[in-house]
Amino acid sequence: MNPSIAIIGAGVSGLYAASLLIEKGYDVTVFEARDRIGGRVLSHDGFDLGPTWYWPETETTITQLIERLGLPTFTQYTAGDLMLERQFGVIERHTLPPGHTVPSMRLVGGMMTLTTALAATLPDGTIKLESTVTLIQQTEDEVSIELETGRSQTFSHVILAIPPRLASRISFQPELSETTKSNLANTPTWMAGQAKVLAVYDRPFWRDNGQSGQGMSWAGVLQEIHDASQPGGLAALFGFFRLSAAERSVFDQDELNRRVIDQLVRLFGEEARQSRDVLYMDWSSDRDTASPRDAQPLTEFPVYQPIALDPAWEGRLSLAGTETDSLFGGHIEGALRAAERVVEKL
Ligand SMILES: Cc1cc2nc3c(=O)[nH]c(=O)nc-3n(C[C@H](O)[C@H](O)[C@H](O)COP(=O)(O)OP(=O)(O)OC[C@H]3O[C@@H](n4cnc5c(N)ncnc54)[C@H](O)[C@@H]3O)c2cc1C
Repeated sequence: MNPSIAIIGAGVSGLYAASLLIEKGYDVTVFEARDRIGGRVLSHDGFDLGPTWYWPETETTITQLIERLGLPTFTQYTAGDLMLERQFGVIERHTLPPGHTVPSMRLVGGMMTLTTALAATLPDGTIKLESTVTLIQQTEDEVSIELETGRSQTFSHVILAIPPRLASRISFQPELSETTKSNLANTPTWMAGQAKVLAVYDRPFWRDNGQSGQGMSWAGVLQEIHDASQPGGLAALFGFFRLSAAERSVFDQDELNRRVIDQLVRLFGEEARQSRDVLYMDWSSDRDTASPRDAQPLTEFPVYQPIALDPAWEGRLSLAGTETDSLFGGHIEGALRAAERVVEKL
């Protein structure tokens, strides 16, 4: 009989691990807390509310995977001037020298086309949605996992492909040591304190004015703005917030949206007021991504590395997920590399 593997988490890392294991003949079940796959990868009508870019010059795993899956791609639009707001309402226009940014690529239809394509490589019934794992328990020579619903199932091995901090929601038998618990709890979840907003337009009017859609601000609600248009589809500008989760929570959604649009008008002109839709996703209040500690803004890019498990769990449990990759931890590339590392070790 093929060894049976449970994967907890249907984000990029869990889905890719499942796909690799199925290829090798393992019997795999993926348990996902949400009613959708993708985890932090989330697109709405092709617009990305989670990750947008990959960088082919350095990120070989994702680049090759996208090629292998045959997903259509395009280059992030950066032609034109960048708008800078150092002081509230004082707008500077900068023409950047050629080659000023490392070229990034996007997927036609949004990053969710990647997770959808990965899920399509799995046999029907592999992914169990709305299946939050609450207990992982060793039996004599197997590992049993129990869901929030009380249902349980046993496997030869379990792969945890969730943000390490969320492991605190799961009970382990035998219990994890205090050192392992604190290593998991002290690993920040990348972008979990962030929120993303998209203003959707009929056309990318900023390009007509020689603007790239890029904006930087040290004074508005948004810190960093980019062109988020889909080729041949609707146009959009997206922004990451300068405000922390606590600062954002002071405003209701209408007020926050109003401040976002006002800032886009300051940077890109009155046409920015004519948005047909505003999409918003606050990851800091997403229970399947963020823990309360993630609301604290990160001051620098965290150093990620594989998290060692206690000897009692050796050979029974593996940790995947982007926060366990030492080279590209935080990025999708890291999530894919972590999946490869865990599968290779099995
Ligand atoms: C706003 C934003 C912008 C980003 N931009 C980029 C970018 O441009 N480029 C880039 O490379 N990366 C970017 N990232 C990071 C990228 O999204 C992540 O690196 C990647 O998606 C992580 O994948 P993962 O599978 O490791 O984790 P996740 O996507 O977090 O997947 C974990 C899954 O586990 C599930 N889960 C958690 N607990 C349980 C449980 N107890 N039981 C069952 N299931 C559970 C969750 O629901 C989730 O589906 C961005 C992230 C955000 C939020």
